[in-house]
Amino acid sequence: MLEVKSFTFNPFSENTYLLYDETGEAVIVDPGCYDKNEQVELDEFISENQLKPTLLLNTHCHIDHVLGNAHVKAKYKVPLWIHKHEEQILRAVSSYASNYGFPNYQQSQADLFIKEGKEIKFGTTLLQSLFVPGHAPGHLVFYHKESKTCIGGDTLFQESIGRTDLPGGDHETLLRAIKTELFQLPDDVIVYPGHGPTTTIGFEKQHNPFVGLNARF
Ligand SMILES: [Zn+2]
Ligand SMILES: [Zn+2]
Repeated sequence: MLEVKSFTFNPFSENTYLLYDETGEAVIVDPGCYDKNEQVELDEFISENQLKPTLLLNTHCHIDHVLGNAHVKAKYKVPLWIHKHEEQILRAVSSYASNYGFPNYQQSQADLFIKEGKEIKFGTTLLQSLFVPGHAPGHLVFYHKESKTCIGGDTLFQESIGRTDLPGGDHETLLRAIKTELFQLPDDVIVYPGHGPTTTIGFEKQHNPFVGLNARF
């Protein structure tokens, strides 16, 4: 059975997710842990629950989602998987990290590029990767069908959507991708977003002011 543990890290209040199952194998998605306390919080949960991380995934590579990549890679010796269109975005982070107040940011490199639709396996768990660009050019969403769990990154939020004014962003692309990819999932799928509280596909179809039934924007 899939378990989802969430942490909220760094001044952007970014949600970091740790996915694991009964085998103890785990995947870390978007580690935003920057300072020592945040890294310890993540590491203690992993050690206390005797988990074994096998993979590091980024939904996309904005700074708030990758601050802990280097720590996770070094500590757990796991490969980093991203979509190819995020490679440039990841590489750019070191050029602006200091300006954003993260002088100790350490660059990390992707070890594998995930193609949309690819199945990602850990323990007995299979995740599907859905391509939902628009907030970022290579944004992926990780979907676990059996538990109706969706790790959404910065695509769909509770009554909001990801911003599209950053490099590689495009508003129409995001609206279309949410409708063609995320809104095809069952209504009771739980979305664990990159910021803020969880929501469901059905709730957002009804109430989201950007992509819902009565969209106002
Ligand atoms: Zn983002
Ligand atoms: Zn974010």
